[in-house]
Amino acid sequence: MIKQANRMDTITSAIFSQVDELRKAEIEKGNDVITLSIGSPDLPPARHIVEAIKEATDDNANYGYTFTKGINEFTIAIADWYKKKFGIVLDPETEVHSLIGSQEGLSHISLCLVNPSDVVLIPDPGYPIYSAGPLMADAELYHMPLVAENNYLPDLSAIPEDILKRAKLMILNYPNNPLAATAPKEFFEEAVQYAKKYSFVICHDFAYSELAFDDYVPDSFLSVNGAKEVAVEFHSTSKTYNMAGCRVGYMVGNKEVIGLLSRLKSNFDYGIFYPLQQGAIAAITGSQDCVKELVQTYQRRRDIIVNGFNDMGWSLEMPKASMYVWIPTPNKQSSFDFTVNLLKNTGVAVIPGVAFGKYGEGYIRIALVQSEERLSEAIERIKKWLK
Ligand SMILES: *Cc1c(COP(=O)(O)O)cnc(C)c1O
Repeated sequence: MIKQANRMDTITSAIFSQVDELRKAEIEKGNDVITLSIGSPDLPPARHIVEAIKEATDDNANYGYTFTKGINEFTIAIADWYKKKFGIVLDPETEVHSLIGSQEGLSHISLCLVNPSDVVLIPDPGYPIYSAGPLMADAELYHMPLVAENNYLPDLSAIPEDILKRAKLMILNYPNNPLAATAPKEFFEEAVQYAKKYSFVICHDFAYSELAFDDYVPDSFLSVNGAKEVAVEFHSTSKTYNMAGCRVGYMVGNKEVIGLLSRLKSNFDYGIFYPLQQGAIAAITGSQDCVKELVQTYQRRRDIIVNGFNDMGWSLEMPKASMYVWIPTPNKQSSFDFTVNLLKNTGVAVIPGVAFGKYGEGYIRIALVQSEERLSEAIERIKKWLK
């Protein structure tokens, strides 16, 4: 028998796996399953991105180690983009750094900042790596409830003083997965004040910066005065450019934090395959028409789901951003039970809110990763079932 390390008990993905087993069992039975569970983009990257990758793979010189920071062209492209998009000036040498997907950075950042039994403040519900990363660093988690009554923002004043004093890191994520919630700049300002007062780092996961609807433009966390003194922002090409498998992410902001993570990473990895960095550069510096089109696609899909549920008696608001819809279960049913019933009765696979944390109970998450036709079909099936 293999004896596993204790920390492995703390990082389970039990609910996700369970739902996926049930989903596969339905498919094996020959049922037509509409998979809206995993948030993996269904559309391809734009042609010019694929061409840039292809061209770079033809050059024998592009197969060496690239080193962890990212090639200069890549970090400069990001600094230019931040300047143009947010008016934020970043030094591409010290304030921009590549990540092998933002997930990689999120999984490692605690190792640089946290000693055993230091506190990491995480949103609940939240993306699973927000708890798994700190737990691998033997941190103590403090769950900040994100509830409708507080507009899905953490109530910082409700965090006990002794927890704040022991906190080394706070993780935030707006536009949010799974809630599709957004944050006003005033909240970021408040968070910076807390971080300064109690000396902790803020890591803002900005994976959905570009997937915003109806002219809403999400604020960069770094647009707040003084944010760079305490914060880093994590980014990804995965959702914006449909490059999830390429694993190209990056972090920007506080150079001491970036320096620490860089030092750690230089022991773990040797950077991202050069042609994939070229693909990311083409994506970031090229025409953003593909992003506009993608946003319109998600917006039409969002409308189908939200209007569909509202026709059935829900009163959902239109999310302003992300690629998810967060939906309360009927009569506060357990999110797991409802997910299983939904799957068995309609073949529609979703994620139960409880998979993202205790405060996700009573909700399901739908990922908008199927065509309008399939989403309409999903709505029709649910209507028939619930009638
Ligand atoms: C998808 C997602 C990521 C993962 O991004 P990668 O760059 O592919 O690792 C990070 N954060 C959130 C909130 C996500 O939904």
